[in-house]
Amino acid sequence: MKTIGLLGGMSWESTQGYYALINQGVKAKLGGLHSAKIAMMSVDFAEIEELQRQDDWQRAGELLASAATSVEAAGADGLLICTNTMHKVADMVQAAINIPLLHIADATGEALVQANIKTVGLLGTAFTMEQNFYKGRLAQNFGLNVITPGDEDRAEVHRIIYEELCLGSIEGASKKTYLEVMHRMVAGGAEAIILGCTEIALLVQQTDTDTPLFDTTAIHARKAVQFALSGQCEQDA
Ligand code: GLU
Repeated sequence: MKTIGLLGGMSWESTQGYYALINQGVKAKLGGLHSAKIAMMSVDFAEIEELQRQDDWQRAGELLASAATSVEAAGADGLLICTNTMHKVADMVQAAINIPLLHIADATGEALVQANIKTVGLLGTAFTMEQNFYKGRLAQNFGLNVITPGDEDRAEVHRIIYEELCLGSIEGASKKTYLEVMHRMVAGGAEAIILGCTEIALLVQQTDTDTPLFDTTAIHARKAVQFALSGQCEQDA
């Protein structure tokens, strides 16, 4: 089994989901007492969030690149950045290491193509919804038509992520807001919704709506399990 590298803590509220999902995935495949081999560096999210607000992506990229080299040195065979937003610096991180970076947007794009979705709504931080590093990749590499909420909806979706979800606060009113925003994107043509922030599944689940949801945390964790077990024979598990 390969060792999965995780860059976590962005926020830790979602990183614990990654940890559980990856271990559950390995256990489901191999059974018994099997669990995932994981090497993780978990950052202080307050430092990252401040750099995001200051628009200092260079420094944020350096911080994550340095953490990624520690994960590689700890024995990881591949790396996951456990946040959609920080994939803005994915190229800097990949350039610093000699192991593959399993990109969250690629895992999500593959899942959408497999489900034959053409037009998809994207929820995430303002960085993810408004900039090209994420939706551009989905459009260019997977031919997807990505739609995002209107100005006011984007601001509120962003606020709820930083002021509530990343602090572990799950509010009924915010769930209602998210469902309404999703509904407006469906009315605008979305066949499915990407939960493009790793904390959103803490607030909204598939049981809340008939619209297909693509939870990036679960999709990314599944990709990690496939990677860890690729080339694996049951007997040398
Ligand atoms: N976890 C979130 C994401 O997936 C937001 C936190 C961050 O800015 O990294 O984008």
